[in-house]
Amino acid sequence: MSAQRMSAQGTQNPQVSRARAVSQGGAAPPTPQAPQGAPPTDSAPQPPQAAPTPQPSCPLCPHACRLAEGQLGICGARAACGSSVVSLNYGQTTALALDPVEKKPLAHFHPGSMVLSYGSFGCNLRCPFCQNSDIAQVRPEGGRLPALVAPVGDGVPDVPSPRHAAASDSAAALASAPVPTTPLTPEQLVARALALRPRGNVGIAYTYNEPLVGYEFVLDTARLAHEAGLANVLVTNGYVNEAPLKALLGHLDAANIDLKGFTQGFYDRVGAPRGLETVMRSIELAASHIHVEVTTLIVPGLNDDPAEIDALAQWLASVDPRIPLHLTRFHPAYRMPRTPPTPHETIRTLAAVAQHHLRRVHPSTGGLRW
Ligand code: SF4
Repeated sequence: MSAQRMSAQGTQNPQVSRARAVSQGGAAPPTPQAPQGAPPTDSAPQPPQAAPTPQPSCPLCPHACRLAEGQLGICGARAACGSSVVSLNYGQTTALALDPVEKKPLAHFHPGSMVLSYGSFGCNLRCPFCQNSDIAQVRPEGGRLPALVAPVGDGVPDVPSPRHAAASDSAAALASAPVPTTPLTPEQLVARALALRPRGNVGIAYTYNEPLVGYEFVLDTARLAHEAGLANVLVTNGYVNEAPLKALLGHLDAANIDLKGFTQGFYDRVGAPRGLETVMRSIELAASHIHVEVTTLIVPGLNDDPAEIDALAQWLASVDPRIPLHLTRFHPAYRMPRTPPTPHETIRTLAAVAQHHLRRVHPSTGGLRW
C-alpha cells in the first residue's frame, strides 16, 4: 500500500498537482469558447460538457465516505483529492511522549518498559465522552481542504528516501492541521524511537487520536520500525474495515482495542453504524495475530449496567479467556462536562462481574490513556 493515499482500488493518485492547485485556489483550466464575433446559432458548435467527476469513496472504515473534490471525511483527517481519498494528517504530530507501556494500557506486553507514543489528529467516531477531544474531535475550519503548508525539519537528521520525498510532495504538504502540529516523517519517528532505547523504549505506539484515520503513516512507520527491530503498538477504537486491518496486522506486535459498550445502541450514540459487529470482528481478527488487550471506558448511566459488562466479558472469553480487559473511569470531558467521574465502587463491581469469565481484568483508577 502506498504512502498517504488510498483509493478505492488502492492505487496511486496521479492528480497530485491538480489537488495542490485546488488547495491553493489555483485557476481552473479555461472553458473552450465559441469564436469571437460569431453569432450564436442553433447549429453553432457547443462547448463540450464536462463529464461529472466520479466521487472517490474511502475504503478505511465502515463510514465509506464518498467525497467531492476537497471534501473532508467524517474523521476530519482525510479528504478527496482527484480520484483518491488522501490522508491530511500524514506525520502531523500533535503529541509525542515516552510513556510506560502500561499507560496505553497494556498490562501484559513488555511490562515495565517504555514506548514512544505518537499522536496526530482526527477520529472516525463522535463519542460525547471523548477523553482526547482536543486532538480527536478537531476539524479544519469550514470543513474544507486546508491550505498548502511546507513541511519543516524537527532537528532529527533526515534519512533521504523516496518515501520522504513523497511525503514532502503531496498529502503531507497539503495538510494544515486544525491544531498545532510538528511534521515528522516515518524515518524521523523511527530514529527518535531508536535513540530512546537506552531509556527502556521498546518501540512505537500509535495512539492519542484514532491512529487508523492516518493509516498510511502508521503502515509506513510500522514497516520501518520492524526493520529497525522495534515493536509496534496500536491503540484503536477498532472501527476499521477488515482488509486494511489485515494488511496492517503483520506489521504490529500488540494492540489495545476499545470495546466501548456491548450494544449497537451504544455504538449508535458514538456515531458508529454497525459499530458493535465491526469492533467485535476487529478484536477477533487482531487476537488471532498479535497480543491484544481490550479497554472499556465505563461512563455513568451509559454502559455501567452489570448485565452489559457480563455479556461483554462472556463474549471476550469466547474469543480467548486470556485477553486482558481494562475497565477505566470516565472523567468529565467534551460534551459531558457535568457528568461526575465514574465511582471507584462501580469499577470494582464491574470488574468482579467480568472476572467470572476472564482471567485478567484490570480495574483502572485513572481513566485517561495518556
Ligand atoms: S477513515 Fe475517515 S474518510 Fe475514511 S471512511 Fe472513515 S471517516 Fe470516512
